[in-house]
Amino acid sequence: MSLPVPYLSARTLTVVKKIDTSGAARVVNLGLNESWLGAAPGVVEAIREAAPQVYRYADPGCGTMRAAIGKQFNLNPARIVCGNGSEELLDAVGRVYARAGDEILFPAYSFLQFAIVAYRLGAKAVEAPLGPDFSVDVDALLAAVTPATRVIFLANPNNPTGSVVPMDEVARLARELPSHVVLVLDAAYAEYVDPAEAVATFEIADRHPNVIVTRTFSKAYGLASARAGWAYAYPEVVAALNNVRGIGNVNGLAQVAATVAVGEQDFIQHVRARTAEERDYLERELRTLGFEISPSAANFAFVRLPGAAAGWAQATVARLAKQGFIIRSNEDYGLPEWLRISIADRADLDEMLGLLRVEVRAANGERLAAGA
Ligand SMILES: *Cc1c(COP(=O)(O)O)cnc(C)c1O
Repeated sequence: MSLPVPYLSARTLTVVKKIDTSGAARVVNLGLNESWLGAAPGVVEAIREAAPQVYRYADPGCGTMRAAIGKQFNLNPARIVCGNGSEELLDAVGRVYARAGDEILFPAYSFLQFAIVAYRLGAKAVEAPLGPDFSVDVDALLAAVTPATRVIFLANPNNPTGSVVPMDEVARLARELPSHVVLVLDAAYAEYVDPAEAVATFEIADRHPNVIVTRTFSKAYGLASARAGWAYAYPEVVAALNNVRGIGNVNGLAQVAATVAVGEQDFIQHVRARTAEERDYLERELRTLGFEISPSAANFAFVRLPGAAAGWAQATVARLAKQGFIIRSNEDYGLPEWLRISIADRADLDEMLGLLRVEVRAANGERLAAGA
């Protein structure tokens, strides 16, 4: 029996990894950058209230949601397009602007979704080298642009490294980029940094018709499973994205949730402050255990244990998972020594740190025994 031949072969490139937690009575997932502070106030009640309407089609244009976003950030709703999470919008940008053989460019160790967008199109994923300490090198990005480059993706702050590109460098990239290239500023973690940077990001998109800003409700707003994101761009770009997105892409309950959530900026301020506090704590404790820290501006820490044996991070992730704590190793990002750990409440962080302490002691013991 012969099977139809797919253009895309089966392949395991995915942002969601399978992990064995069998044996754990309770599972704490610190591997997906979900917010431990939960959904913004009023969201769950609003979803419950809207639930009886689930038999009806929702507004395919997300009018109420776009109006609420526009009001909150002082943006023209006509320049906003909503998506089934921001991942749909990243994918839509790829489908609007790139085809097989084109180049999609991003800094090394960027969000895995960028390579996936290129892969789905048969486009070439091109990585620009970084500067020191996972810093984005804007000159290296500009130097990597060719006539075949159609899209640049820049996550700021970046996942998984947590690093930030200074706004004047983002502005310079937008300014010096040839106008045939679309620049996507993926601001999925914008709520975790100074709100002035989000404003500056929108201003860059106002100055340049080839710049698209994407935002999500999945992280700080706590709506990861609702699937709601949005993009801000010039009207012509928004029209093009509306042509390729799914018609009913944002379900009615997600639209209701996002509409309520975006008005809860006091909550977002609370999330920002609490996340920074617990991130500082986690990074300090990990440093004490001997970890090297890549300073993170987002809701996760990014760390490695210098001198650990090859495969130590993967083995540690597997052992912690069996004890109920999922953290993320990054071999799929080409960084097999590095661990990405989502910020959580103090009790869960302390329990996880206790498990890690055991792993570090064992690694150090092995190193001593080996005479290193
Ligand atoms: C989490 C994340 C997103 C958001 O994904 P959604 O599809 O909106 O849930 C986008 N970009 C980056 C860099 C992320 O880490």
